[in-house]
Amino acid sequence: MSKFRMLLLLLFVSLAIQSMAQNVRVKILATGGTIAGAGASSTRAAYKAGELPIDQLLSAVPDIHKVAKVTGEQIASIGSQDMSIDIWLKIAKRINEIFKNNEADAIVITHGTDTQEETSYFLRLTVKSDKPVVLTGSMRPATAISADGPKNLYDAVVVAASPKSAGRGVLVSMNEMVFSGRDVTKSNSTSTSTFQSADFGPIGLVYDGMVEYYRKTERLTGTSAPWDIDKITKLPRVDIAYMYADAPATAVNAFVKAKVDGIIFAGVGNGNMNKANLDALAAAAKSGIIVCRDSRTYSGRVTLHDEVDDDKYGFIVSDDLNAQKSRILLMLALTVTKDRSKLQEFFFTY
Ligand code: ASP
Repeated sequence: MSKFRMLLLLLFVSLAIQSMAQNVRVKILATGGTIAGAGASSTRAAYKAGELPIDQLLSAVPDIHKVAKVTGEQIASIGSQDMSIDIWLKIAKRINEIFKNNEADAIVITHGTDTQEETSYFLRLTVKSDKPVVLTGSMRPATAISADGPKNLYDAVVVAASPKSAGRGVLVSMNEMVFSGRDVTKSNSTSTSTFQSADFGPIGLVYDGMVEYYRKTERLTGTSAPWDIDKITKLPRVDIAYMYADAPATAVNAFVKAKVDGIIFAGVGNGNMNKANLDALAAAAKSGIIVCRDSRTYSGRVTLHDEVDDDKYGFIVSDDLNAQKSRILLMLALTVTKDRSKLQEFFFTY
């Protein structure tokens, strides 16, 4: 084939791929957050999260309509510090409905960054589809100098519209990186590069309107989970207590008194605790509350039978999930079983 014909063929193939992507229907579910935040001036950091509606966010990125057929739907208008189980249920059910009714090919969720790692894991465990679901947000409000929202929104649509994003579970796209919704965490209170996965890094990178992936996450997603979120209206109560030097068992005892179904204990190191908390947690486990040892450290796993004899006290461990993600898995798992060894298995599977 001549060089000219080769170039023509390449041009044709790239135009065909582009027009295929443009036909992808991406629905944006807006929930608020700093990406929809407005401040009094461009230089002041003070702002209110969740103020701007989705149509206004989209108008800041007109090129987004060249990437896909984009439509918006407002689900909530909150700072994600106010995210709730009720809203999680609403989003998960709506996503399952959208895919079931073939209303869209992919979904982007605009969301505050504070609890985005929790929503991403909750949706990863409850969405019953392999189609792309991508969360994004921003660290700077829409009115700030160098607001990061428009670029993050554009990139999230690029990620959602790419066929390469299917079958990877729910994703988080921020700051030109794509993370698995399972292990991403907010690592910095103010930086635009806040989202990280301490143990595993990003799974993909976005640049120039294209996404490239480098690895897959092994753990299972909601497509194979035994719970059916469409039938759930309420989740069991699971709370988190935290260890520090000389910590009294006040928090654990308060949760027991509140009749919680589970306690995630963010211990020190490999899920360790002092005697006061060990005694309180052992009593809680004996009374039927599921106690899961986690770690306050930023990375690594909590392993069974290390310094704590889990069989003796009736505890389970979180593996590599941080406390806020462990809480989500335990709440969902408790809807299908109260058996300790089965619950432990979920932590090694999801
Ligand atoms: N508090 C905000 C929120 O989570 C922060 C952000 O979006 O970056 O909604």
